[in-house]
Amino acid sequence: MRIEIATLFPEMCEAVLSESIIGRARKAGAIEVHCRNIRDYTLDKHRRVDDKPFGGGMGMVMQAEPIWRCWQAACADLGETPYTIYLSPQGHVLTQQMAVDLVQKDTLFLLCGHYEGVDQRIIDRIVDEEISIGDYVLTGGELPALVLTDCIARMCGGVLPAAIAFEEESHFAGLLEYPQYTRPEIWEGEGVPEVLMSGHHRNIAAWRKETALRVTREKRPDMYEAYLDAGNQED
Ligand code: SAM
Repeated sequence: MRIEIATLFPEMCEAVLSESIIGRARKAGAIEVHCRNIRDYTLDKHRRVDDKPFGGGMGMVMQAEPIWRCWQAACADLGETPYTIYLSPQGHVLTQQMAVDLVQKDTLFLLCGHYEGVDQRIIDRIVDEEISIGDYVLTGGELPALVLTDCIARMCGGVLPAAIAFEEESHFAGLLEYPQYTRPEIWEGEGVPEVLMSGHHRNIAAWRKETALRVTREKRPDMYEAYLDAGNQED
C-alpha cells in the first residue's frame, strides 16, 4: 500500500513516521508513505496557500488550487486515482472496521486541513470520504492523518510479525483485549493469574476469552451489547 499525505507541515509527519514500527516498516518497504508539501504546488509568488473566507469571519481558508495541483501530481506519480480522504471533524468517526476496509485499498491520499479548513469546492471535487478522529477540534489534520496512517499501516502485511498480533487486540473482533502480564512473576507482592504460568494452551486461551468478555462488559457495556447483538455468545 502507498499512502500520500498532503500537508503544510511535512516535517511534522515525517518526524513521527520515521520512528518505531512504522519507521522500520517503511525502511523495509512493507509500506510506502510519502508526505507532500501543499505549499510546493501553489502558483502564488509568495507561496501563499490560504486566503480570507468569503462572507467574512475569523481565520483563513486553504485555497482549492494548490490542493488540486498537489492531488493531480500524486495521481500522476501513482498512475491511478487514489482513494481520497479529508481528515475533518465533520467526518465519520474512525473505527477499527473503517481501517480494516481501508487496508484493502492500494493507494490513499490523505488531505490535512489547517486554519479554518479547506475550500469546499476541492472537497466536492476530489474527496471520497471525510474521516474524523473524534468529536473535538484540533488545529490541523496532521495528527489525525498520522493516527489513521498508523492504524492502517499496522494491519498491512509485513509490518507486524503476524496477523494474530492485531487480530487479538482490542476492537478487531468487537471486544477489548484480555489483561497482559510480564516478568517478574511477583512484583511488589502481586502475582499473575496462575493459568498463565501453567503452559496449558487451551486453558490459557479459555481464560483470555473469558477475561476479554468480562473486561468489555465492565469497561464498554455498549460494545458488549453490540457483540451479543451480532450473534456472539457470552461464553
Ligand atoms: N472550521 C472547521 C470546522 O469547524 O469544522 C475546523 C477546522 S480545524 C481548526 C483545522 C483542520 O484540522 C481541519 O481542516 C481538519 O483537517 C483538522 N481537524 C481538526 N479536528 C479534527 C478531527 N477531530 N478529526 C480530523 N481532522 C480534524
